[in-house]
Amino acid sequence: MLLWPLVAVLGLCLGSFVNVVIARLPPMLMRQWHEEACAALDRDPDPEVAKLPHLNLWRPGSHCPRCGTAIAWHDNIPLLGYLKRRGRCAHCRLPISLRYPLVELAGGALAVAVAAIHGVDPAGLALLGACLTLLALAVIDLRTQLLPDVLTLPLLWAGLLYQLLFQPLMLGDAVLGAMFGYGVLWLFYWGFKLITGKEGMGYGDFKLLAALGAWLGWQALPLLLILSAGAGAVVGILAQLAVPRLRGQPMPFGPFLALAGWIALLFGAPLLAAYQALLLT
Ligand SMILES: [Zn+2]
Repeated sequence: MLLWPLVAVLGLCLGSFVNVVIARLPPMLMRQWHEEACAALDRDPDPEVAKLPHLNLWRPGSHCPRCGTAIAWHDNIPLLGYLKRRGRCAHCRLPISLRYPLVELAGGALAVAVAAIHGVDPAGLALLGACLTLLALAVIDLRTQLLPDVLTLPLLWAGLLYQLLFQPLMLGDAVLGAMFGYGVLWLFYWGFKLITGKEGMGYGDFKLLAALGAWLGWQALPLLLILSAGAGAVVGILAQLAVPRLRGQPMPFGPFLALAGWIALLFGAPLLAAYQALLLT
């Protein structure tokens, strides 16, 4: 009985770390790219960029994004800290994004879902790691239109390692899943570009589908594409009806791939069996 609260608290804490990745990884990468580009062009880095504080995922500690004041440990407890301060910084009183408690809550929900559906064991922990990486990718893509290689590529390798350790008979399907996952979106991208002259998606999307192919095997790719394209179409149409200025704006595809990935990772086995039965009849 003690297990479920423990799993939920673990998920909330991991969700809190996902928040750090979401907030810090994009500016860390932008700075790195800027410095590399300047080095390649033999130029001095932009003084504005050089002035920015050096960040990594561990330092400095949590602070208010508006006023920079460090957040006391008792205000930094997942979810409770946000509720205790009613969503405002203890120092400057400015609102703190609702994204923080929502991502923590999503971390807790994913941990409970993986434990309930898969069980609490090393393979379950690995699945939770994949689900949380998808959470970070989905929110980063929504905010910045980036799917960083430092998340998608390790997710792909981790998927192959997961198969090797926990279901070695699936390893061949996983390698094909990674290859076809990348290849099918690459073909779609170039086909769409040749016909319309526009870019329908980015290379990060190919790498993310390749990673999901590694975790789920090539058999899951049609299901992943149907789920993500279907959800993307419904949300896209609803968003354009609700907010007319979104019309014609590019929409990130990563969050829908992540959503399809969660569904397939959590409910994949029964879903795939049902859908293969459907194909055979
Ligand atoms: Zn503040």
